[in-house]
Amino acid sequence: MKSNTAKGITLEMVKCVLEKEKSVPLDPVSLACRGYCEYYRGDQGAEGCRGLAAVRRGVATGKIGMTQLTFLLDTAPDIARRSGCLINEMCSKCSYLESGCDFMSASPPPDATPCGGYRLLQALLDAGALTPEVVRALTQDV
Ligand code: SF4
Repeated sequence: MKSNTAKGITLEMVKCVLEKEKSVPLDPVSLACRGYCEYYRGDQGAEGCRGLAAVRRGVATGKIGMTQLTFLLDTAPDIARRSGCLINEMCSKCSYLESGCDFMSASPPPDATPCGGYRLLQALLDAGALTPEVVRALTQDV
């Protein structure tokens, strides 16, 4: 693993809690890319990344909100693994599948990790913050 930690999630949480009197919108790029993606370079995230698109949908529909993120506070992401309910809809149609995603390549390097969106959704699944059914809905046709 390189540099991705749950730090981005924690920062976002603190910001929201401190400013709860104001309505602070959650930022999908901050949550998924800054929080979990080792490939993130401080931009607005990769437009072709379906992991980010799924998180954007989750935030926009309220499926990923403060309640769900509370499950992740101060919890480091688990080791990435291939998960059917993420791969079937999301990765199988991602523009990075053919080239650019080591994690989903036919022969992944031992330290390959998926995008931040994938890792965030996996973390939410592992924590019981989202059900597989909700994740499937978020990843369909994004
Ligand atoms: S893990 Fe790879 S193929 Fe799957 S959504 Fe992320 S970038 Fe795309």
